[in-house]
Amino acid sequence: PRPPRDLDEPFSIQCRDPAVAAAAPRENATFVMLTRNSERDQARSTIENIERQFNQWFNYPVLFLNNEPWDPEFVRVLNASVSGLATFAVVDKGDWGYPAWMDVDDAKAKIAAQGSEGIYKAGAESYHHMCRFYSGNFYAVEALQKYRWYWRLEPSVEFMCAITYDPFAEMARRGKAYGYTVALWEVPETCPSLFRAVDDFRSDEGMPAAPMWRAMITPSRAPWPIRRLLGWWSTAHRTRGGDRWNYCHYWSNFEIADLDFFRGDAYQALFQHLDRTGGFYSERASPRPPYLPRYPANPSKKLHHFADIGYYHEPFFQCPGNAPGGQLLNVTALGDSAQSSPESPGAIGCRCQCPDGRRRNNRGVCL
Ligand code: GDP
Ligand code: MN
Repeated sequence: PRPPRDLDEPFSIQCRDPAVAAAAPRENATFVMLTRNSERDQARSTIENIERQFNQWFNYPVLFLNNEPWDPEFVRVLNASVSGLATFAVVDKGDWGYPAWMDVDDAKAKIAAQGSEGIYKAGAESYHHMCRFYSGNFYAVEALQKYRWYWRLEPSVEFMCAITYDPFAEMARRGKAYGYTVALWEVPETCPSLFRAVDDFRSDEGMPAAPMWRAMITPSRAPWPIRRLLGWWSTAHRTRGGDRWNYCHYWSNFEIADLDFFRGDAYQALFQHLDRTGGFYSERASPRPPYLPRYPANPSKKLHHFADIGYYHEPFFQCPGNAPGGQLLNVTALGDSAQSSPESPGAIGCRCQCPDGRRRNNRGVCL
């Protein structure tokens, strides 16, 4: 077959018959949710939602992770909500928290200082532990070792569209390593030295400075004079490659990704470098911002924007337009998601509802 013209075209532009995709073999994949015992109801709401919109047909396993022992009531309730295998694992002590070599009093003082400066979420020690865990040690968790692919979930998220194909299978078939739904601008104060640290790593490793930022700040369809002007501006202000991150980052509460990429020496070396520079505690470095676009050198083919997946994590969402009704298959099998709002022919996405029960206006935009 001919390769797709657009390397990152949506995987699906309409609902399919989920039974057809579900008849194919599963990938070696699992959902993963790191959560606290206290988030039981929120975790259940996510699981019930993803079961209704996707997993009722595919029955992928769900791995719940906690840094503390599981509350038996959490295990009971969530076991009852998952259609596939549910596993409840506790993260090893050594994989959670400060690295052994770190001066913990100094780190705590830095966290307190970030809190008193009012930097969003940066005053909570546990938030830093969570970010460090997801950046590096997550991939070493014993219960994950048998899997190649994961789909990250969080409590209280919502998928607004039926997902009637297997995203893992499409990722594998198209050679993708990292899939996201939402990318947005990070608050600069949360990670003032992150990109410099990444760029130091890049140059230490002898990797070329990829002009990725240019693609990010210059929409490829912008009129030529605007592209030209932005190109000139960025050259004129050139000091060092690493100082020009525009703070665009993947919102990593949703991810579908290839664990082998993160387990690989190259990514782990980057994590070690960031860990040694102390960034997970001296600032609120969140796990994903700049290094995926930067690394490996030509990543664009490996990345995928799931434009067809409706997703809501408070306060932001992505809501695809609704697929034309005539192409909707197996409406009854789609359950709730088939009770749909206005349709906009030609739009991508299986039938979607707006997050949180919001309405769509007559142009298909969620209000
Ligand atoms: P945000 O999305 O950046 O606001 O971060 P969250 O507070 O939602 O945390 C991200 C994920 O990590 C969620 O799935 C939380 O349930 C989980 N999480 C955060 N901190 C902890 C923690 O200290 N222990 C456990 N077990 N889970 C945590
Ligand atoms: Mn969250």
